[in-house]
Amino acid sequence: MVNSCANPSCAKPLHYLREGRIFVFDVTRTSAPGDAKRAHLLEHFWLCGICSKTMQLEQTGDGIKIVPKSTLRVRHAVKLADGALAS
Ligand SMILES: [Zn+2]
Repeated sequence: MVNSCANPSCAKPLHYLREGRIFVFDVTRTSAPGDAKRAHLLEHFWLCGICSKTMQLEQTGDGIKIVPKSTLRVRHAVKLADGALAS
């Protein structure tokens, strides 16, 4: 279970769940190559109040990554601009 901030350079101990943000990812694991057995596993990550203001977690093919929040905002803004141009 989660006991500290997911940001390795912060690693603040988790005391209050109301502070910061919890991320839940459904991670599918294969036990061995060629093995058809798969298990859905929910993994919980927590970012403390300070880290969750500027960062968030994203699931990629390589695993869970910490990404800056501003990147997603910019992407969203670009999408909105594209939509406005198309209509
Ligand atoms: Zn933190």
